[in-house]
Amino acid sequence: MKCFYHQDRDAIGACKSCGKGLCSECAVDLSQGLACKSRCEEDVQNLIRLIQNNIKLSPTSSNIIRASRRSGVITSGFYIVLGVMFAGWGIHDEMSLIIAMGVCFATFGVISLVRVLRITSTHIPS
Ligand SMILES: [Zn+2]
Ligand SMILES: [Zn+2]
Repeated sequence: MKCFYHQDRDAIGACKSCGKGLCSECAVDLSQGLACKSRCEEDVQNLIRLIQNNIKLSPTSSNIIRASRRSGVITSGFYIVLGVMFAGWGIHDEMSLIIAMGVCFATFGVISLVRVLRITSTHIPS
């Protein structure tokens, strides 16, 4: 990668705000990342502050996990119900393709349900 402002120089890194390559002359090291000198310094500083605030507010991340678990369970349940419906329809009308489709949906639903429960349960403090 070359410096965005000096095409003949190698970049030492990329600006955390705009992602442009920077040489040692153009970069300002803000300890958490590089910024374009006098162009993106303020942006990157705000960005770093934002990230640090997010880390401090970590209790909310368990709420996010809880919410994603709920939506994951709903989606999985939807697939299982859909699969069972398809399979029932296929059995009723003796259409093996529809049965196979239903089985696929239901299997997918069960697999994703198990995965959602396994991943999220380890992260939620009870
Ligand atoms: Zn920049
Ligand atoms: Zn440069």
